Amino acid sequence: KAHFDVETIRKDFPILSRKVNGYPLVYFDNAATSQTPQQVIDTIVDYYSRYNANIHRGVHTLSQEATDAYEQARINIQKHFNAAKAHEIIYTAGTTNAINLVASGFSALLNEGDEIIVSALEHHSNIVPWQMLCERTGAVLKVIPMDENGTLKMEEYDKLLSEKTKLVFVNHVSNALGTVNPVKEIIEKAHAVDAAVLLDGAQAAPHIKADVQDLDVDFYVVSAHKMCGPTGVGVLYGKEEWLNKLPPYQGGGEMIATVTFEKTTYADLPHKFEAGTPNICGGIAFGTALDYMNAIGFEKIAAYEQELLEYATEKLQEIEGLRIYGVSEEKTAVISFNIGEIHPYDIGTIIDKLGIAVRTGHHCAQPIMDFYKIPGTVRASFAFYNTKEEIDAFVEAVKRAKNMLS
Ligand code: PMP
Repeated sequence: KAHFDVETIRKDFPILSRKVNGYPLVYFDNAATSQTPQQVIDTIVDYYSRYNANIHRGVHTLSQEATDAYEQARINIQKHFNAAKAHEIIYTAGTTNAINLVASGFSALLNEGDEIIVSALEHHSNIVPWQMLCERTGAVLKVIPMDENGTLKMEEYDKLLSEKTKLVFVNHVSNALGTVNPVKEIIEKAHAVDAAVLLDGAQAAPHIKADVQDLDVDFYVVSAHKMCGPTGVGVLYGKEEWLNKLPPYQGGGEMIATVTFEKTTYADLPHKFEAGTPNICGGIAFGTALDYMNAIGFEKIAAYEQELLEYATEKLQEIEGLRIYGVSEEKTAVISFNIGEIHPYDIGTIIDKLGIAVRTGHHCAQPIMDFYKIPGTVRASFAFYNTKEEIDAFVEAVKRAKNMLS
């Protein structure tokens, strides 16, 4: 097995050396947001120290430098996801914003009785915008059900698909369970009935390098803050033909070709969808974050995280009464669990006192919790900068919490 030099990597993350409640921080809430390496922090400091300026408008040097850096980052992002064209990458404020952009655009393309399919495993951000879209258009929302393992029932998906289906929305990886969905099959089958597919890549992107051309996906959305970048920025990848079909999301500066009070014409891609002053520094820093992760290598990251996942799963399963939700052949480094009837919030609170950060609750995926008839889970999610020693400390803390609470 190739050696993964986690100790050297950890030195890039200043936050990992801090203490919480007198204990070394163990950060296992990476599925909510990842930590930031010094390289990305340096990009942010450099931007505000040397070339903070508005883009695309100015003839002056600072504005040109900012524009060049922002557009170079777009090209880095394009290459990372293997999009065919840079203008198929639209900067957004994040995954939620990107989904709303697409949902808003489809308002103009859907008719009453058209059908939209989502999965039972979705994050609220991939449910609510489609419900709002259905209210506006009279389209109907259908749901691919899941089984006890947290796997989608693909035979039910087959039954839902018809010539009425216009759109299919599924997350690539479930944020609540970490399970990887069979996205290639979902896309192929949707295309067979001429439906478009949007993949929510928010949880997949930190672990799996998606190739949007190989997937042949129509839309792919991610947030920078889950992949070592800053909050408030993300991207929508869209196939050029789809982005040309969708009307603009927001009106304003930057997104126009000409404006008169009688008629406005819109700018070409990508600017048509980028109204107003964007998160310039965030976009540039997202580019740095991708460079940083690619320099380590996604295959190495994935292999190491699988080691952490297996190690933690084995150790946790030694705890009596502990149930892990989401069992699948392919899973990212997320463990969602409960112990007997103990409330997940109580476990989270006690282990925080020992410096350990996990997420508790419904993880913005209430339908999954309803399916299991539970209020929520404790979710530990690992990143490539975590260690087996941290997992040991975490398992010990969970055992202590269990003893205190039962
Ligand atoms: N989808 C999934 C699967 C997620 O995990 C998240 C973040 N928890 C989102 C969408 C929303 O991302 P953001 O809050 O960055 O817009």
